[in-house]
Amino acid sequence: RMLKRQMECRRDIDRLNAPFLAIYESLVPPEEEKAKQKQLLSLLEKLVNKEWPQARLYLYGSCANSFGVLKSDIDVCLAIQNADINKSEVLLKLADILQSDNLQNVQALTRARVPIVKLMDPVTGISCDICINNVLAVVNTKLLWDYAQIDVRLRQLAFIVKHWAKSRGVNETYHGTLSSYAYVLMCIHFLQQRRPAILPCLQEMEATYSVAVDDIQCAYFDQVEKLRGFGSRNKETIAQLVWAFFNYWAYRHDYANAVISIRTGSIISKREKDWTRRIGNDRHLICIEDPFEISHDLGRVVDKYSIKVLREEFERAADIMQYDPNPCVTLFEPY
Ligand code: ATP
Ligand code: MG
Repeated sequence: RMLKRQMECRRDIDRLNAPFLAIYESLVPPEEEKAKQKQLLSLLEKLVNKEWPQARLYLYGSCANSFGVLKSDIDVCLAIQNADINKSEVLLKLADILQSDNLQNVQALTRARVPIVKLMDPVTGISCDICINNVLAVVNTKLLWDYAQIDVRLRQLAFIVKHWAKSRGVNETYHGTLSSYAYVLMCIHFLQQRRPAILPCLQEMEATYSVAVDDIQCAYFDQVEKLRGFGSRNKETIAQLVWAFFNYWAYRHDYANAVISIRTGSIISKREKDWTRRIGNDRHLICIEDPFEISHDLGRVVDKYSIKVLREEFERAADIMQYDPNPCVTLFEPY
């Protein structure tokens, strides 16, 4: 009888597949948008190279990791070799150059955790953040992109989770909730944990790609075209995965002891990372290990108020997936 009941629940949840896929499709950016991004990037490259002929520009973040929804801002990294540059000076100089070329809302934020220049291009309507020599972000962008090539359910799940997080106001690091990057890591980890697994752990496999960034060695298996079909023994549908994802973060995750780690493809303990107590402003109330900068907890922005908000939102989402007659609407209701 239990089994029969379980089967009925599955069928019941599977009626949500079509609407979830429709939401996913509606968020995928159209090809024109990619073309506009490229156009803006070449304009920026031209301007930058007049001042710094050796410098290169790289796209990173959601415009390059395949987790960007339509109308996203673009993130650009300016790579300058010269070791003794002063980042603030470069940013101010850069802001100057951009301003005099009619780019709008140009602003140098030299005191931010990651110092950037912000701008808006009136021709394409695209907003853009430029940082300097943030090579690690370019490398973790590639890792996310590579994971997305293995199983389409990762991109589907991450789009829905990001859309939910933005709708519910829990995608704002300056308010103590999580970055888009953190949510994508949560999705990758979750799909690594399914049985049978939907995603492998690329960093535990033989390295076919390896770069050193400062003192961090970034290495993993990046021949992902060989891994297409990896998760095909697992037949879970997007609706089942959305249900299970929220159920995990609402009722199953061990917030007191567990760290999620896509680097190891498993859960590791707070104790072994020495993330058991508050140090400075890092409270480790929800622990998400960065795949390369392993002393970095993406959950460190979360404080004792926002952890409550976050967990209540996970519970709300899990309960909606379980009981609401129309989850595809209720889930994304503005808060
Ligand atoms: P969105 O669509 O919301 O802009 P995004 O993927 O661009 O999503 P952001 O949170 O804006 O995500 O981050 C941009 C990129 O910066 C990430 O893809 C990642 O490479 C890097 N990044 C962001 N936050 C961190 C962090 N705390 N530690 C390391 N890298 C980070
Ligand atoms: Mg971004």
